[in-house]
Amino acid sequence: MSSFATTAILLRRVDFGDYDLIIHFYTLNKGKLSVIAKSAKKSTKRFAGILELFSVLDIVCSKGRGRGLPVLTEAIIKHPFANIRSNIIKTAYASYWAELINECMEEAQKQKQLFYLFRHVLEALDLGQIPAAALSIIFQIRFMTISGLRPNLSSCSICQTEIGQTKENNFAFDIGKGGLVCSGCAAVSVRKLCLSKGTVKQLLWVKSGDLAKAIRIRFTSQALKEGLEFLEAFVPYHLEKELRSLVFLKQIRT
Ligand SMILES: [Zn+2]
Repeated sequence: MSSFATTAILLRRVDFGDYDLIIHFYTLNKGKLSVIAKSAKKSTKRFAGILELFSVLDIVCSKGRGRGLPVLTEAIIKHPFANIRSNIIKTAYASYWAELINECMEEAQKQKQLFYLFRHVLEALDLGQIPAAALSIIFQIRFMTISGLRPNLSSCSICQTEIGQTKENNFAFDIGKGGLVCSGCAAVSVRKLCLSKGTVKQLLWVKSGDLAKAIRIRFTSQALKEGLEFLEAFVPYHLEKELRSLVFLKQIRT
């Protein structure tokens, strides 16, 4: 049987029968990958304490028979990120990011950029020097860019006026249109949120470019509040999915 190796982040574990687990990973070399970990549920020796949520692992799998899932044969822990799992708020944020990836990425659709983005925000969340809310803004906006759903933050989505050219300090963001609308057009917009000019600037700044630099940005408290509210409405609307972990995150945050 042929086998393959890759670095992987553990997104989700699902019980499978009495002994086995199905594990969903986001991997560097193969994108999203589901594998079966045999006897992982009962055995204390095999994979004990290794197959934990959000940890980064080096894994080896053998190809399954026929259409069966690949079988996990080896797993070595690289980054346990144990501080995330011991904190409920951090766990809630990481669960939301993991669910976004698990729900929106196709199997075997490789996106190395997304792997590095996810690992980077998890690492920062584990270290705890950057607010989880800031990391969540960076993750969501860059995740949207990678998935091709780019919110329009530079011109009015109805009349195309360049937003940067206007003297307004507050803009409306039309969730349905996926972009900002100028004050003249905002009257006809139905699903809108308010974003200040400063928030838009900070969002544009972290949307692309160097990730390590983006992560060190200090969001204003207004940008944190508006940015989270905006992305947590925009992302599920455009994915047309209700994300259970986002509902949970919103509950425990209040
Ligand atoms: Zn307009």
